[in-house]
Amino acid sequence: DTPTNLTHLLFLVLLTGICGKPRIADVGGVPYLLPLVQKDKVYDLNTVAKEIQLPGAFFLGAGAASSRVVGGNAELIPVVKAKSEEKPAVNGSYIAQINPSDGGSLLEKYSSKHNDCEFGLLANLYASEGLPGQVIEVKANRRTGEQNFISCIRKTLEKYYGDKPVGMGGTFVIQKGKARIHIMPSEFSACPLNTDEEVNNWLKFFEMRAPLICQPVLVSQDPGFDLRVEHTHCFSHHGEGGHYHTDTTPETVEYLGYFVPAEFLFRIDRPKETHMVGRD
Ligand SMILES: [Zn+2]
Repeated sequence: DTPTNLTHLLFLVLLTGICGKPRIADVGGVPYLLPLVQKDKVYDLNTVAKEIQLPGAFFLGAGAASSRVVGGNAELIPVVKAKSEEKPAVNGSYIAQINPSDGGSLLEKYSSKHNDCEFGLLANLYASEGLPGQVIEVKANRRTGEQNFISCIRKTLEKYYGDKPVGMGGTFVIQKGKARIHIMPSEFSACPLNTDEEVNNWLKFFEMRAPLICQPVLVSQDPGFDLRVEHTHCFSHHGEGGHYHTDTTPETVEYLGYFVPAEFLFRIDRPKETHMVGRD
């Protein structure tokens, strides 16, 4: 199974490509989900592509599905080539939901049921022209501390670059081991979620197994735009996927990732009222 996913990753990075005018977009935010949902917060990746001055952008990242399209709350794992003047959009996204039949996790190709490019509430997006080019390769085996793979990279960048923020996106594979992944329940919380503890009791947590293909967006430090400084969603070819927290197998875990530093960061529809709950 691993070679298949590695091939997929290498195909994505080296052939399809994640280079060319690399940029990051932080759209909406957790304050549109918590303490109570604002369902009118709906966005379209084709519009975002124009807003970041990259029509036809190739998007990877982490966000929430559009509940008006999907009919409930869900994790979106966006893999989208936005429409351009020449070509229609290509939506290769995945969607991770709680399976209504057994309460387990359910990962599906977005295009199996929907043919739009909407998302809701929030997204952290890495966009590029989708071209081959130079990338940063990061390999890591065994976890020796508490921080996850992306936090380690982010905090290392912060230590080195200080108050000059560095943002990156790309893709990595958890090649061996297992990971702690959450999926939001299909129903938004009817009572306000005001603390991290309340949020964690509402979320559904799973231990999912490698190989998991992950889509990180990170910024070393928030320069005051109310950013989510890291956000990673993942999918697999064995029916598992969602929001990555960390691996649960520090002794045996293996990571391989490819990253590109962003040239620009766009903050879109920043919430006016904000808080720091549920940013993990
Ligand atoms: Zn998420």
